[in-house]
Amino acid sequence: MKIVIVGAGPAGLAAARSAAEGVARSGADVTLIDGNHSTGGQIWRGGGAPEIETGVATLLNTRVASPDLLTFDKLILATGARELFLPFPGWTLPGVFGAGGLQALVKEGLDVRNKRVVVAGTGPLLLAVAHYLKTHGADIRLIAEQAPWSKLIRFGAALPSRKWLEALRLWNPCFSPSTWVTEAQGTTHVKSVSAGGKKIPCDYLAIGYGLVPNTELPQLMKVDPCALDEYQRTSNPAIFCAGEVTGIGGVDLSIVEGSIAGYAAAGDVEKARAFFVQRDRWKRFGTALAEAFALRPELAQLARPDTFVCRCEDVTYQELVAKASWREAKIHSRCGMGPCQGRVCGPAVEFLFGWKPDSVRPPLFPTPSGSFSMIGNEPQ
Ligand SMILES: Cc1cc2nc3c(=O)[nH]c(=O)nc-3n(C[C@H](O)[C@H](O)[C@H](O)COP(=O)(O)OP(=O)(O)OC[C@H]3O[C@@H](n4cnc5c(N)ncnc54)[C@H](O)[C@@H]3O)c2cc1C
Repeated sequence: MKIVIVGAGPAGLAAARSAAEGVARSGADVTLIDGNHSTGGQIWRGGGAPEIETGVATLLNTRVASPDLLTFDKLILATGARELFLPFPGWTLPGVFGAGGLQALVKEGLDVRNKRVVVAGTGPLLLAVAHYLKTHGADIRLIAEQAPWSKLIRFGAALPSRKWLEALRLWNPCFSPSTWVTEAQGTTHVKSVSAGGKKIPCDYLAIGYGLVPNTELPQLMKVDPCALDEYQRTSNPAIFCAGEVTGIGGVDLSIVEGSIAGYAAAGDVEKARAFFVQRDRWKRFGTALAEAFALRPELAQLARPDTFVCRCEDVTYQELVAKASWREAKIHSRCGMGPCQGRVCGPAVEFLFGWKPDSVRPPLFPTPSGSFSMIGNEPQ
């Protein structure tokens, strides 16, 4: 039997570990694929990922752009999530990054020592990013969290004690609830941002409005990553989904879901069942997360007529506001038709105008024809 796992973040790694354990006696093989050059996904990018089990073949630097190229008996999709960006004046200036994006660049070697950084947006990631940047020498000027204290306190009260300790460790006095960036100023690079009625000089703005599941691959395979049975199985019995592709719930939920999917794919349902109670607990954490950090409607009013919404195709807010649907916007403005294929502007447009993105088509990423290869038969 051949088990293929797409995504080597916490969910995919946990799935690989339990699948390898589950199939050890049967001689089946497990292949783990990821587009990154190392395993670990977003949180363990640059170090800290658990070791890969012996018996798991790993294909890194390999993005699955089309499911036609995969062969498998069981497939686990653990494609994770990406950051949500919302347009505001100045958001396309050099020096404005996603919050996790700037963290990822520092993990890859960007030097932020003595750089003035504003971290903004929403969610627990902001404190984690600010802490990481500070430990790498950045001068954190502000952490602008759009959620109000009232919601944060309710969220805090529901946190397990381990998460409390983590929050205390990451705490920063620059943290400011009910605050959001209304504009970034600069000509060739961001020089300052406006937030909470103040103008704050900075060298970098790290901004992210939470996470959006990477559902494109499940969509192409005609399965719904939110409609799963208790074993993380989709409507296609050969395909499982695990981790943040199924919804945003944090690293602990991703690991538990990956473990369940891995054991279940390998046929060891008893071991999978042992994780059900943990999954319920971390799902409650995910629900509390969504309630606490729900986006306030004011954020949909920040873009001006000339603010780019689709930065790949230079489509402004003004060009979109009179359109009736995502399809009409695409046809008339090329919104979402650039290199990111709507990954950035699609969720933003959904928040701004309530349009659901169109169906997804392969290839999922701009892909040179020479780099297409079959995956699953002979892992290299
Ligand atoms: C930018 C960013 C930074 C984050 N930083 C932190 C942090 O500092 N602390 C924290 O607690 N949480 C952080 N999170 C949240 C944390 O990543 C998640 O809670 C958790 O890691 C989700 O695990 P996952 O395995 O579901 O997905 P991910 O960790 O997102 O892993 C998914 C993997 O799938 C791969 N992939 C996706 N599509 C394909 C494809 N088509 N072909 C091949 N490979 C594919 C990706 O390259 C990625 O490695 C961050 C999230 C993001 C988006």
